[in-house]
Amino acid sequence: MTTSTDIETTPSAWIGCLACYNNGRLVGAWFDAETADTVTLADVHDGANHVRRDCEEMWVLDHENIPTKGEMSPSEAAEWGRVIVSVPERDRPALCAWVASGDYIAEGAGDIPSVNDFEERYAGHWDSFRDYAVDFAEDIGLLNDAPETLATYFDWDAWARDLAMDYTTVAAGGGCGVYVFRAL
Ligand SMILES: [Zn+2]
Repeated sequence: MTTSTDIETTPSAWIGCLACYNNGRLVGAWFDAETADTVTLADVHDGANHVRRDCEEMWVLDHENIPTKGEMSPSEAAEWGRVIVSVPERDRPALCAWVASGDYIAEGAGDIPSVNDFEERYAGHWDSFRDYAVDFAEDIGLLNDAPETLATYFDWDAWARDLAMDYTTVAAGGGCGVYVFRAL
């Protein structure tokens, strides 16, 4: 398995004031997405005395580490944030890649991924699917009973190719390996 990197995985949301935005003033800041729905107008305006009379609605105009495109409401960003941080930090890039692939299980009717399904399916971050297949073969003792002289000639490529039918893989960012998912 590949080692995890130190990339930032905290989902965050840039929450702005819509009224100010519509008046040509970009007023807002970055917040943790997880608590985006508790952010107040005073937080967004850097103090209550900067809130104007027509300031009312807040909107997420940008976000990071949330695997969906476009703007959203702070409560939607909070939903995404809570789901993503409920997964261990090292697995978050895999969760985001799973969602970004489009081939994932959503929770209910929306776009938010089902963490249970993710955890059931995710089989790790590997340099290649073949690496996973070789490790899996060891786990199940595939060649335990084969004479060593024969095992040397085992066709790993063919084995990995057939095994791949029961899995989907998603390329990891930066060209470093693949995330492997069981097709249940
Ligand atoms: Zn405002």
